[in-house]
Amino acid sequence: MALDYHIHTPLCGHARGRPEEYLREAVRRGLSEIGFADHAPLPEEARRHVRLSVPFETIAMPWERLASYVRIVERLRRTSPIPVRLGLETDYVPYSRRFVTAVLEHPFDYLIGSVHFVDHWGFDQEEFLFEQERYGFGRLMRRYLELVTEMASTRLFDVAGHLDLPKKFGRKPDRRFDAAFRRALKAVKLAGMAVELNTSGWDRPAAEAYPSEALLRLCHELDIPVTLGSDAHSPEEVGRHLDRGRRLLRKVGYRRLASFRRHVLTAVPL
Ligand code: ZN
Ligand code: FE
Ligand code: FE
Ligand code: ZN
Repeated sequence: MALDYHIHTPLCGHARGRPEEYLREAVRRGLSEIGFADHAPLPEEARRHVRLSVPFETIAMPWERLASYVRIVERLRRTSPIPVRLGLETDYVPYSRRFVTAVLEHPFDYLIGSVHFVDHWGFDQEEFLFEQERYGFGRLMRRYLELVTEMASTRLFDVAGHLDLPKKFGRKPDRRFDAAFRRALKAVKLAGMAVELNTSGWDRPAAEAYPSEALLRLCHELDIPVTLGSDAHSPEEVGRHLDRGRRLLRKVGYRRLASFRRHVLTAVPL
């Protein structure tokens, strides 16, 4: 099935196009199911700790918009010719547990747990590349994987987002981090989560999907379900590289995809 479970909306402040245009593009491309997973509001604690040069409203939706986000997706779903799931891409920051519990009060189909911040800096933002120099890539990777492991252990999330995101700007984690990736994936497995194949990496300096083929093989070996997501921030990105992603999944042995409804996973044909 051609499904795209990682679609943003302008409510996060850095995507463009109306939600119905994203849906229209999905239908035009013949996708069989989509899910919106816009950036969940950052908890107050994160706002106090995280350093940013841009306003918080340009990286995630403000808290007051969460209810209208839910309404917008639910309204689209009522007239859509294909199933539309309600999701969120939720930042895992260690002090945000209470917040995530609050998010779960809405009727979400799935939550993507993503780590974009380590020790209060956004490592996937171009403006913080200098910080990567200072902080060190090895330290970034170790801390990042600790957080992913912790994120999975909270059992609050359904899908692990862009698993090897620190490679975004082209530097790739080598074999040194295999054990830490394995530990993180075991936590993902134990939590009953899926891993997303995020195709946006093919359009970044990394020039490969998240996670890498080697990591996907490890996911398959551990029998971890997978979803697909384009990480679309504009309508024309919906479904990007989807066929390439499905071919990659088949190559490593997958025959099924995970779809979610109210946090319940159903396997559908790949
Ligand atoms: Zn975004
Ligand atoms: Fe993300
Ligand atoms: Fe995203
Ligand atoms: Zn993302």
